[in-house]
Amino acid sequence: MAYALVRVIAPQMYDHSVQMMMSADMGGGMRLRAAAVSATNNALVIGVLAGVATAAVAGAWSARRILVPLVQIRAATRRLAEGHYDRPVAVPPDAELADLVTDVNALARRLAETEARRQELLGEVAHEMRTPLTVLEGYVEGMIDGVFPASGQTLGELGPELARLRRLSEDLSALSKAEERGFELRMRRVDLGALAVRAVERLRPQFVDADVALRASAGVTPAEVIGDADRLTQVLMNLLGNALVATPPGGSVEVTVESAGEAVRVEVRDTGEGIDAPHLDRIFERFYRVRGSRPVEEGRHHGSGIGLTIARAIARAHRGDLTASSAGAGQGSTFVVELPEAPPAGPTSVDAA
Ligand code: ADP
Repeated sequence: MAYALVRVIAPQMYDHSVQMMMSADMGGGMRLRAAAVSATNNALVIGVLAGVATAAVAGAWSARRILVPLVQIRAATRRLAEGHYDRPVAVPPDAELADLVTDVNALARRLAETEARRQELLGEVAHEMRTPLTVLEGYVEGMIDGVFPASGQTLGELGPELARLRRLSEDLSALSKAEERGFELRMRRVDLGALAVRAVERLRPQFVDADVALRASAGVTPAEVIGDADRLTQVLMNLLGNALVATPPGGSVEVTVESAGEAVRVEVRDTGEGIDAPHLDRIFERFYRVRGSRPVEEGRHHGSGIGLTIARAIARAHRGDLTASSAGAGQGSTFVVELPEAPPAGPTSVDAA
């Protein structure tokens, strides 16, 4: 910059100085020398001053371009640390800073979602605990006031509410592990067909009691996945238990296992109360239960609405999925677990346990 200025203005200043000195009537050689020195000095001073001024302006401008977003990012991270996630930082034009701001805004969104889920969960848990606690409180106060006798029979009435609280605490602990991806999955090669047959046999007495037919058909060849046998059994037991609750006496539940190319598919189909379309995806949400058309029968399992949330989390932790379909209320339901099929293995490694 300074060079360019000197280059442009020095000859003009030289001409100007020569004219001035000629009119001041100095000796020829002296005049020329003085004119050259003066023109060079003036041009240098102007050039350097202009260069410094330009550098200062450009420096201030680019510092501002970087500093303003950095200050905003700093303020935003401080707000995040204080638990305020609601004000995203404006994305600056500079590409690197834009990436940083986008990441900070994504972090804020993620924290906001986690916080919202935490609050929602606390509300739901409090709500779930309220009913059994109110019933227990009513009985205990009734016994203290002498309204109910403190007999074995009255105390027996407390059992289901206590069981409900215990089940809620177990479900919550399983849910927190599932949602934090805290399961310890002990991955092995397992045959889902064998697991399904075993789960069916374990639950058969309850189906017999409820007069619901139970059939299992697994393919002749093993339907192998790489998975945690206990967790996958938990999923199957949950689906079978739900199917049993949803199916009236005389109905049936059928489990089929087939290997469908890249995936192994387990289908649990019942002829029970079915699920209306608006509820179909919501049943996988925590604490979501559908108020069935049939009254809940005495002594039947009355869950907390967490089982399917956990079952889906387990399926997804195996890089698979759990989905539901139903033609509607009264039309039965089908639940499908689909998991990636295990790659072909050596002859000795099949383990269905
Ligand atoms: P729960 O502990 O209530 O069984 P789940 O998460 O396992 O909780 O199920 C959520 C809800 O989904 C149930 O309360 C029920 O309304 C509905 N549901 C689950 N399985 C079936 C089924 N086979 N047929 C009809 N409804 C079902």
